[in-house]
Amino acid sequence: MKVGVAKETAPGERRVALVPEALGKLQAAGLEILVETGAGAGASIPDSAYTEAGATVVGTDALYEQSAVILRVAKPSAAEVARHRSGQAVVGFLAPLIDPATAGALAKQGVTAISLDAIPRTLSRAQTMDALSSQANVGGYKAVLIAANTYGRYFPLLTTAAGTAKPANVLILGIGVAGLQAIGTARRLGAVVKAYDVRPETREQAESLGAQFVKLKTTIDATGAGGYARELTAEERAAQQAELNEVIGGMDVVITTAQVPGRKPPVLVTAEAVEKMKPGSVIVDMAASALGGNCELSRVGETIDTSNGVTIVAPDNLPATMPAGASAFYARNISALLLGMVKDGALNLDFEDEVTKATVITRDGAVVSEAVRKLIDPAPPATPAAAGGQA
Ligand code: NAD
Repeated sequence: MKVGVAKETAPGERRVALVPEALGKLQAAGLEILVETGAGAGASIPDSAYTEAGATVVGTDALYEQSAVILRVAKPSAAEVARHRSGQAVVGFLAPLIDPATAGALAKQGVTAISLDAIPRTLSRAQTMDALSSQANVGGYKAVLIAANTYGRYFPLLTTAAGTAKPANVLILGIGVAGLQAIGTARRLGAVVKAYDVRPETREQAESLGAQFVKLKTTIDATGAGGYARELTAEERAAQQAELNEVIGGMDVVITTAQVPGRKPPVLVTAEAVEKMKPGSVIVDMAASALGGNCELSRVGETIDTSNGVTIVAPDNLPATMPAGASAFYARNISALLLGMVKDGALNLDFEDEVTKATVITRDGAVVSEAVRKLIDPAPPATPAAAGGQA
């Protein structure tokens, strides 16, 4: 079976789905690898490195004509969806819950869409396939480097002949995969780190990395399904906000990573909290997207300087800013997923398998993921009264 590696076309996307080091295992499983010309360029991997690893470098037409499966990082553009043949499969971060229309278009095209964002993350067997974690790890690390680079003072305590520099006070909001990596990285740079999350079990994890857990007087346990957080109620949000505002005001650097699956990221740093921060303070909002971010003032892809001298950075796609390192991890994840779905050198989808069941979102011309189907075609209102409402 021929497996194609697409050149990413999303703006700013510099990662690539497979790196040359990952080809050996796939070839040993009977797969032939085709790589689109220039696919690795953004990650500083020349075509020749893929050829040396045994792949064939091909043009775009040949890639879509010959591949049974196409591997990619970001979801395909509309033009790329149109290039797919019926019966072909595509694997990548297809983001079907954010962009159900692309999933619908892939189904219409007869493509089997396999989405890495849907991996059941708590399944221990799926850990090697967990690209959300590997990429969040890159993001957490890079967010701290951006914060350190933007902050006009030292992160570590420094005693020199010219005087002493105080260490930076860093607050990490959201202690998931990215938050834990951010704590570790900020600690290694010598900062004094505080961290906060609405899932109580994160306290021990944060403390084990050397952060002080921020315990609010209002007890909130928002542990949701699958290890994720649930959305807070309006009362919980108000109580959390009032207390967090006080903590945020004393910080030099705030890095936010909080997400709630399928929802707009919660606002944790309000405009009022930003106003209380000292001039020179830095906020890096990792949760920022077109849906909004954890900071009320952040604008995705932009760096803003507020009138009271706070810099708010809202990076768009942090893993893509470390393309070689991020791609190496991603390649291992996507290879592990693909190898679990291959038998005798061909794609063999077993829907009894938990990973296959969760990640295959379209097949045989239909959207098979219930959650995605609901987004594309919400159930009609049960009664005319419900439809008409009071308006
Ligand atoms: P995420 O990106 O969904 O969210 C990041 C963090 O934000 C989470 O820790 C969440 O609790 C927190 N958050 C949400 N709302 C908040 C609020 N209002 N205030 C403060 N914090 C808030 O999380 P993630 O990094 O993808 O990880 C989610 C979970 O999955 C974690 O429990 C993680 O340990 C788990 N996980 C498990 C495995 C595994 O078992 N193999 C692998 C990866 C992740």
